[in-house]
Amino acid sequence: MALQIGAAAAAVPTMGDPAPLLQQADSLKTSNHAEFLQLMQRLGAEATRLSSQQQQYLRYLHAWEVGYRGDYETATPLLNAIIEQSTDATLRFRAGTTLANNLVIGSRYEEAFARINQLLDQLPQIADKDARIQALGVASMLYNEAGQYDLGLTYANQMLRENPVGDGDCKGRLFQIQSLYESGKFSTFEQQSREAIDACNKAAEFLFANFVRFHVASFDIQHGQASAAIELLHKHYAEVHRIGYPELTSDFDALLAQAYWNEGKVALAQQYAQFAIDGGVKHEFTKSLTSAYQLLYLVNKKQGDLDAALSYHEKYMAADKGYLNEVSAKALAYQTVTQQVLAKKLQIDTLNKQNQILQLQQALGTKAMETNRLYIVLLLTVLASIALWAYRIKRSQMSFMKLARRDGLTGIFNRQHFVAMAEQQLKYCQKSTRMAGLIVIDLDNFKLVNDTHGHAVGDHILRRTVAACEAHLRSTDVFGRLGGEEFGILMPECDRDVVTGRAELIRLAIASVSNGEDAPGIEVSASFGVSSTVESGYNLRQLLIHADKALYDAKRGGRNRVVVFDDVEPSFARSDLPLQRR
Ligand code: GH3
Ligand code: MG
Ligand code: MG
Repeated sequence: MALQIGAAAAAVPTMGDPAPLLQQADSLKTSNHAEFLQLMQRLGAEATRLSSQQQQYLRYLHAWEVGYRGDYETATPLLNAIIEQSTDATLRFRAGTTLANNLVIGSRYEEAFARINQLLDQLPQIADKDARIQALGVASMLYNEAGQYDLGLTYANQMLRENPVGDGDCKGRLFQIQSLYESGKFSTFEQQSREAIDACNKAAEFLFANFVRFHVASFDIQHGQASAAIELLHKHYAEVHRIGYPELTSDFDALLAQAYWNEGKVALAQQYAQFAIDGGVKHEFTKSLTSAYQLLYLVNKKQGDLDAALSYHEKYMAADKGYLNEVSAKALAYQTVTQQVLAKKLQIDTLNKQNQILQLQQALGTKAMETNRLYIVLLLTVLASIALWAYRIKRSQMSFMKLARRDGLTGIFNRQHFVAMAEQQLKYCQKSTRMAGLIVIDLDNFKLVNDTHGHAVGDHILRRTVAACEAHLRSTDVFGRLGGEEFGILMPECDRDVVTGRAELIRLAIASVSNGEDAPGIEVSASFGVSSTVESGYNLRQLLIHADKALYDAKRGGRNRVVVFDDVEPSFARSDLPLQRR
């Protein structure tokens, strides 16, 4: 079934302003086709008075009318021109809907589905209620014909939701019944069809009311109620002929033929079957045409006219094949277009995905750069921290080492470091066969200083003594505190006499600390023991033992003097010079 979908009826206006005239012609298209044709004639005569937009509207109504008559070849280019040229979006949309409708009737299903898909895509932008109902109606009808009853029902329900009174109510209910009837899903068919007929009568859409009746009669025949079907079809037979929509009249005739056949009224069955064939849509295989040929074959077979029976059987087969071909062509077209739409969506999805991947890659690139930068900053921070840490460690190590090497009170080498440094120097001297001398100094009666003046004064004297010594030392000399108030000086590259001379100078320097500004009344002196590599060799331990021996002699000799160790037997006689040899 293919329908032309119009709007509710209105009273025919008197000639005047063409704008309401156009509206009324539009609303009368299917409800009062004869009036519509009259109005169109009058509007055609007044065409020069119309604005350009009104002329477009008139052209659309004209194209619609050509299609209604079944001349789709003429209607198609007229509708295409409106779709391409009209400045009115709603009119373009309506022309597209009418074209989709005609494409179905002309069996060009693939194009019809492609177009209806386009229209459904545009639907959200269309506000005009009638245009929306028209498109939803064509979509519902098309999907029902392609066997997609669920989709057909979906669009029918939407028609009802969008326009629950009048036009949408009528057509929505019709398409609902059609979907439910074809899919066998209806439960309260009688009630639903009654409501649909009422809704269409209320909207003065008699064409659609009779399409509902066609379904009711089919239902009755299928359920053994042939007489009820005959009664219903005859009651509205004249009205259907008045409406003059070839497909519907043919449907009514074919159903009557079938009902009479079921009732055993063969002649009537034959008569209406012939009406169905004669009055049907030309060049189209419909269900009604098929059933009419089938009936004529059965009638002739029953009457024993085998030639006629064979001829009708052949026609029946051809019509059935044609009808089935159309059905499968519709289903195939639906599948094809669906696939195309899917493929297009997939392509768009793929492009979107590719785009997303590109964006992601870019984002990742930026992120990677940011991450790299972060890594570099982090690395630099870590490196800086390590460097700072290493520097601090080094510094504390250095100060620790310094502390470890120096004597806390006087700041000169402690005994350990003095020994290490002195041994190093002795090694160099030994290698280069140069002499070296060692002086060991011990402050005289220092215990007494402490006891008399206190430890703090003793400490002060110790520091003053060190300063007095340093004034007579070279940078290559190794000077250290060996313990308590005992000091050692290693003098590389000096023979014994030079060392002895220097020891004597130091002795005087220490003695000069006595009664100084910061040591009033304090007697400070020191005894010196001197040894030399010439007598003792380059072993520090040996040099120290020999120097200690000389120092011991100096103490025993009366203190405040220098005693030089030698192999000669020591003489304890005190000289004028506080210098002794041992
Ligand atoms: P001698 O002439 O025989 O060497 O007499 P002495 O009093 O110096 O005798 P001894 O060498 O036995 O005594 C060393 C004293 O030096 C003992 C101690 O009180 C003092 N002394 C050692 N180290 C320090 C120090 O760091 N500070 C002070 N104030 N006194 C110290
Ligand atoms: Mg001592
Ligand atoms: Mg002493």
